[in-house]
Amino acid sequence: MGIIRIERKVLEKNDAIAADNKKQFKEKKLLVLNLLSSPGSGKTTLIEKTITSCKLSKQIAVIEGDVQTDLDAERIEKLNIPVVQIVTNGACHLDAQLVRDAFQNLVGMNFSLLFIENVGNLVCPAGYNLGEDHKVTIISVTEGEDKPLKYPAVFRNSTALVINKIDLLPYLNVSLEKIKSNASKINPRLEIFEVSCVTGEGIEKWCNWLISLMR
Ligand code: MG
Ligand code: ZN
Repeated sequence: MGIIRIERKVLEKNDAIAADNKKQFKEKKLLVLNLLSSPGSGKTTLIEKTITSCKLSKQIAVIEGDVQTDLDAERIEKLNIPVVQIVTNGACHLDAQLVRDAFQNLVGMNFSLLFIENVGNLVCPAGYNLGEDHKVTIISVTEGEDKPLKYPAVFRNSTALVINKIDLLPYLNVSLEKIKSNASKINPRLEIFEVSCVTGEGIEKWCNWLISLMR
């Protein structure tokens, strides 16, 4: 029982800081999206594609979360986008305090859409609010059909699901319809996007959704 109580305390403290982050984000009129996925589903690639394709590039900033390395921040920096790397040194999720500290490095910069790329992990990031407006889950078709059933919390807590790498479908024994129906079973309100960051398929619809949220 001790463990349960401690965990609840950690989450309560996190929620208080997240609420404070949210207030800061609101004051600056930012749209903030917390991107969640397994490692390798294409979070960074989706951010890159959004920057290069969505006609929003002057309005985007990014906070990158990784267990090690600033490789992803380097990729974003190449596109001339304000970016801060959080290296968690082993921790498997971002928390609100880490985001609050990272955000101070972006103060004074001009942007209205902030992507927070969480650590690649479909488990505990679901429980840690960062002050974001929406969580967006990304899965790639190579991960199979059962991810929503195995990791329901991230899907339940997300506003949108991006199904990535659909260009690989011809080579896989995977049903896109099955992925979607499993996801909708867990969360019927999920906004679902089917995209390929390689061919650009589906990206325009994703861009339009982002733009609609920014109005
Ligand atoms: Mg990444
Ligand atoms: Zn964790």
